[in-house]
Amino acid sequence: MLESIWYQTLEQLHDSLPHAKTMWLDYVVFKEESGDTLILECDSAMTKANVEKGCLAEASNLMDELSGRKITIELRIATDESSDSGEDADDEEESVQSVRDKAPTSRKSLLNPAYTFDNFIPCESTIFAYNAAKAIAMHPGMNYNPCLIYGGVGLGKTHLLESIGNYVETENPRKNVVYVTAETFTNDYIQSLTNKNTSQFRIKYRKADILLIDDIHFLEKKIQTQEELFHTFNDLYETNKQIVFTCDRPISELKGFTDRLKSRFTRGLNINLTAPDYETRVAILRKKCEDKGVRIYDSVLNYIAENIKTNVRDLEGSLTTLIAYSNLIKTKITLEVAQEHLKNIIATPMASEQDISIGTIVKEVASYFSIEISDIKGKKRTAIIKDARNVAIYLTRKITQYSTTEIGTYFDRDHSTITHSIDKVEKERKTNSELAQTLDTLETRIRKSTK
Ligand code: ADP
Ligand code: MG
Repeated sequence: MLESIWYQTLEQLHDSLPHAKTMWLDYVVFKEESGDTLILECDSAMTKANVEKGCLAEASNLMDELSGRKITIELRIATDESSDSGEDADDEEESVQSVRDKAPTSRKSLLNPAYTFDNFIPCESTIFAYNAAKAIAMHPGMNYNPCLIYGGVGLGKTHLLESIGNYVETENPRKNVVYVTAETFTNDYIQSLTNKNTSQFRIKYRKADILLIDDIHFLEKKIQTQEELFHTFNDLYETNKQIVFTCDRPISELKGFTDRLKSRFTRGLNINLTAPDYETRVAILRKKCEDKGVRIYDSVLNYIAENIKTNVRDLEGSLTTLIAYSNLIKTKITLEVAQEHLKNIIATPMASEQDISIGTIVKEVASYFSIEISDIKGKKRTAIIKDARNVAIYLTRKITQYSTTEIGTYFDRDHSTITHSIDKVEKERKTNSELAQTLDTLETRIRKSTK
């Protein structure tokens, strides 16, 4: 409750106070709320001191006013937990990404030359996005401005966005293409505040002929950076400069964003990228083989395409795994070899979504918790129904290959609710042995009932 009031407060602070007083709020994030106390976390003691000096009193008054009661704002300083928790593969991916993001050289180096329109295989569900991206690349700032491409992970958003940049840089080298991830945009902005050279930052972004910003969901709750983007947007838009964004979900599902920035994102063209169909998945695999100069049996490609449905990145990853294996062991990739080596990526046939429908999962979960099937998809919020619903969502994600967006559609809930349910069960499972047992029992029952 206090969280959403805090975002309104932030918006009003930015509107009513000079920039110098509010700029430090960008280093502050909502942490938690406890009764009438709002707990915010500052990245450093310096931020805390500057917020206290710059706008804490105004923030407190606004919080009181908007909530209709006396709210205490507690500012804490973040402890650095990130340095010792990095053990999984995601960290590796992130560090590669940030190295690329931080590359200080010419703008060309930031675009991956491998992402072109030529090697993007469109299908029925992506042809609209593909054609729009091409039209934008050929006539920037003309018809589809701004443009937002959204969809789940690994569906080609970055590929299309960078294809626009690569095309323009090749065909129209005098145009200034700026491609960044939203993370880089944020880091650049923070850096410019620290170095007191925001004008340089503004020149870089507002002199773009084409501004391509990847993964804008990263800006969630970064109100000050959003403000900066809002002004950058207005500047470019008014001068007919092209702006293209990508996001992992529809704008309506973004939380912690100012309404006025959201309205800018939804202006213009919004395109949903969805997973490619079977034929396209096979065509993508063939094209990747061709690009890598390898030949792989159709039976193997068909096997991969049949089993990996929701994510092109995983499709490619499977192929790379097989090629690496065959190069190392000097063996041909037969269907058996593929089945053996992809068994960790591809669920067993018994676990695939052809065999296990969400309906079966919901039925088994409802029966286990002795509630009605309709309650799981419904709106009731009693403890038992909420638990059962979370378990059903979690098991659907675990057992089937449906994306969180698809699961959201089935359960009639937004993407972030689905992710929250999955995370919650995942976390509790580790410490609550009774829950772990329930999940195992249910999974076995679900698999048995579909045999
Ligand atoms: P996203 O940004 O949506 O998470 P990416 O653009 O990074 O996804 O795509 C993941 C991988 O899949 C990339 O290597 C990309 O080249 C490839 N890919 C995605 N869609 C297609 C497609 N339709 N044709 C060819 N390759 C694709
Ligand atoms: Mg991407």
